[in-house]
Amino acid sequence: MMDDSLSRRDQQVIWHPYTQHKNMIAPVPVLRGEGALLYDEEGNSYIDAISSWWVNIHGHAHPYIARKIFEQASKLEHVIFTGFTHEPAVLLAERLLEILPGPFSRVFYSDNGSTAVEVAIKMAIQYRKNCLRDRTDRQAGEGAINSLPARILAFRHSYHGDTFGAMSVSERGRFTAAFRDYLFEVEFIDTPTKSNLEDLKKLISGKADEIVCFIYEPLIQAAGGMIMYEPRWMDELLLHMQSCRILCIADEVMTGFGRTGRTFAGEWLRTAADIICLSKGLTGGTMALGVTACSKRIFDAFLGDDGQRTFFHGHSFTANPIACSAALASLDLLAQEDCQAGIRQITSHLHIFLNTLQKQAGKLPVKNIRHLGTILAFELDMGQDDYLNTIGPSLTKDAFKEGIYLRPLGNTVYLMPPYCITEAQLKKLSGFLLTWLKKKPGRF
Ligand code: PMP
Repeated sequence: MMDDSLSRRDQQVIWHPYTQHKNMIAPVPVLRGEGALLYDEEGNSYIDAISSWWVNIHGHAHPYIARKIFEQASKLEHVIFTGFTHEPAVLLAERLLEILPGPFSRVFYSDNGSTAVEVAIKMAIQYRKNCLRDRTDRQAGEGAINSLPARILAFRHSYHGDTFGAMSVSERGRFTAAFRDYLFEVEFIDTPTKSNLEDLKKLISGKADEIVCFIYEPLIQAAGGMIMYEPRWMDELLLHMQSCRILCIADEVMTGFGRTGRTFAGEWLRTAADIICLSKGLTGGTMALGVTACSKRIFDAFLGDDGQRTFFHGHSFTANPIACSAALASLDLLAQEDCQAGIRQITSHLHIFLNTLQKQAGKLPVKNIRHLGTILAFELDMGQDDYLNTIGPSLTKDAFKEGIYLRPLGNTVYLMPPYCITEAQLKKLSGFLLTWLKKKPGRF
């Protein structure tokens, strides 16, 4: 019998994220992790097929990252980041600026993906104000600036986080419904295609002066349902945004650090963003850390003798040295050939799996099979799409019995494993899904 005392105690005191606690299935206590595997108290192992909410890239409890964390924690665990600096923060900023997809020149640290997005939006809004302050008649002052129309653009089906600014720029859907009246207004546009591109451009040109910024998840809208869109139309759209001098914010919180087969999704695009948001894989999935990097023109707009130009934002744990050290260690590992080989191996395995699924699509209850880099996704064809349907939890349960952890987004099933996953483990994942789908035709 499994000792369930930890999960019983959990249910007395813990409130889990994205979980309906009424009649919830008891959470499984995880004792340890190694590589792509998680181990429960009985020693059962589970392949972490979604990289623990997309954060883990090198595998669990990686000894190199663990050592670097220990060394840093023994030297300096944290220090206030105003008036002080430290080597891990400076080194990490230097190394990120070298590899980021575009001419970024400054790094601002925060705590997670949502805060990285909050920082980006606040930077964009204040950048505009600071620029307008230079141009506006001093007499008219703040009032004149505040009365100018200011719109933010985002994509339909986007997800950028759970804090208020991040929710505001995310799809108005089930996740944000309770807070709708408290979210600021955002103009949502479709992702670009060959057929809508000209209309999108026209819409943007018509109000370019009023637009503060445009935020987007490059190439994959993750929590929106792993929706993939083509780089070539996105490139055209970004070029147009730039020609209208609209600030572009790339949210690479999920896509960063190899997920799409290149270090950043921005590497599939010719047009660089002005601001980029990073988190999740930044520390290899070991520590909470967010980064918002911006171009020189943005940073420079915050310089001046007028104190109001200052960026008034900061968190207690800004640039935490342990988290920065974990990120440096993760970057070391990412640059190694076996990690890059891992990314290639997943990419080619998922490509073969995509072909297999496509060949059998007529006989299987699947649609929209797609793949980019280390991510493969498809929808279970059930006639109606509903996040609250039972098919996702039922797949999670069946997979669990086979030693696999999967967590579909509604009826969207996806694989996004850590890069260290073995070929045998990949075969187990695709084999399980194929068998499960074959057993299910017509039942959804
Ligand atoms: N942006 C994107 C694209 C994300 O996928 C997520 C998280 N799933 C976030 C932002 C928010 O990150 P966090 O959960 O670390 O706040």
